[in-house]
Amino acid sequence: MPARGTSIDPPPAFVFVGGRPCLDLVDTVAKRGSHDIERLPDGERLGRWLVEAGLATSPPQATGADVRRARELREAVYGLVRCVLDRRRPSEHDAAVVNRLAHDADLVPRLQIGAGGLTAAWHGPAPVAAALSTIARDAIDLLSGPLAGRVKECANPECTLVFLDDSQARRRRWCAMERCGNLAKIGRYRGRAAGETS
Ligand SMILES: [Zn+2]
Repeated sequence: MPARGTSIDPPPAFVFVGGRPCLDLVDTVAKRGSHDIERLPDGERLGRWLVEAGLATSPPQATGADVRRARELREAVYGLVRCVLDRRRPSEHDAAVVNRLAHDADLVPRLQIGAGGLTAAWHGPAPVAAALSTIARDAIDLLSGPLAGRVKECANPECTLVFLDDSQARRRRWCAMERCGNLAKIGRYRGRAAGETS
């Protein structure tokens, strides 16, 4: 922990390329296995992530225990996704973690009427636990259903972000074109990725 007033690098920005809350949570770690960029280092960042993910209207007070639970859920979902991608049998432990967190009351959606039309806001008496429950339930719905086969990992081997390919042709390869897709294009232009197709 840096001393107060010590200048540190800005925290890495959140990315939302997963297409589902549970995959967006998995993507709060990037470059797994090489750099392991952690985007949820503390409660303040978790609270902000929940707002940016649309799971809270204002940053909830997230404790260290909340951060541990969020990361535990994240790694369990990642473990399950990894097994789906690799066509391996999922771990009982990962399934148990998701089931345990899904057991809490989840967030309640509420319609709001504003100047621009109808919007949805999420509420819950214990906002962080409810948000994690909502994410765990999303993982159960996604990974047990027909869309599980559309979960992919970015084709840039360094990136490791996962996403739901909801394109009609099911040929999405990159977490985002402006991230890894363009890097690959540049690579091809330089002849470093000969033979690769988009
Ligand atoms: Zn990527």
